[in-house]
Amino acid sequence: MEGKRIWVAGHRGMVGAALVRQLNKTNCDILTVSHKDLDLRDQAATRLWMKNHKPEVVIVAAARVGGIAANSNRPTAFLYDNLMIEANIIECAAQIDVQKLVFLGSTCVYPRDAKQPIREEDLLSGPLEKTNEWYAIAKIAGIKLCQAYRQEFGRDFISLQPTNLYGPGDNYDLETSHVLPALLRKAHEAKINDASVLTVWGTGKPLREFLHVDDLAEAVLFVTQHYSDMMPVNIGSGEEISIADLAKTVCDVVGFKGSLVFNPDRPDGTPRKLADISRLRSIGWNNARSLRTGLQQTYEDFQRNHRDK
Ligand code: GDP
Repeated sequence: MEGKRIWVAGHRGMVGAALVRQLNKTNCDILTVSHKDLDLRDQAATRLWMKNHKPEVVIVAAARVGGIAANSNRPTAFLYDNLMIEANIIECAAQIDVQKLVFLGSTCVYPRDAKQPIREEDLLSGPLEKTNEWYAIAKIAGIKLCQAYRQEFGRDFISLQPTNLYGPGDNYDLETSHVLPALLRKAHEAKINDASVLTVWGTGKPLREFLHVDDLAEAVLFVTQHYSDMMPVNIGSGEEISIADLAKTVCDVVGFKGSLVFNPDRPDGTPRKLADISRLRSIGWNNARSLRTGLQQTYEDFQRNHRDK
């Protein structure tokens, strides 16, 4: 990475911003472009920008993302925008001879009933979870594009599948966010409003794995430098927790002492989603912080930056 021109596509998002923070610790030339200056869904504009800026390494962190509700309510955005963004960047990266491209997907690309922990080999081995099918299909197409360019044109394009992420810069909007920022905000507001209950969507039984976004960024840069193959690589912490236990831990970190109420009218989504991270460990990265430490740091960040939003 030293001395290279590295484009972080999607640098304003939670993941992109974490990648830029991490890259700032190295001696590379970081390229970014804001959404207002380049719409990545526009193929001609994307090609022109990439030809002019000539990145040597590209990390595709640009995507339309959201939680269980947003995914179900905005199917076209989650499918079309993600397909266009990844297809434009990947195809142009091949045209301009980018040395390495890293495509970021998600563990929700795996079948709903995949054997746990989920191995990379299980991609496309069964039906997807309906609540995030639009996003998953777009991301699967991105993984396949990387494999196709590698197979047909020998391009060093890899794809990584991060588990559920959290950390600075997360989306705290209660309708569109993921569970962890939503619970953090709900617990904070319940505490300051002296409320007696906090409502958790679904039954609280689903199991999820969480990774702090700064750990993800460290892992992505490590894998970028040490891995080159067709097979995607899962990026996770290797630990899972039920949504009910997550809610209890969040309340504990925030200092909310009321009780939890579960709302079964909201969907549970996939019952369990734990990534098998043996491949990541064999490449040499195993450095995730504990969930409690990550939550404490994220709550401090929330109090500094989001309390009035
Ligand atoms: P998923 O991992 O793709 O299913 O996305 P989410 O992070 O949005 O949801 C994970 C799980 O947390 C689901 O079972 C949700 O029903 C549950 N959950 C509990 N409370 C909340 C909440 O306030 N917001 C969200 N987004 N999910 C919640």
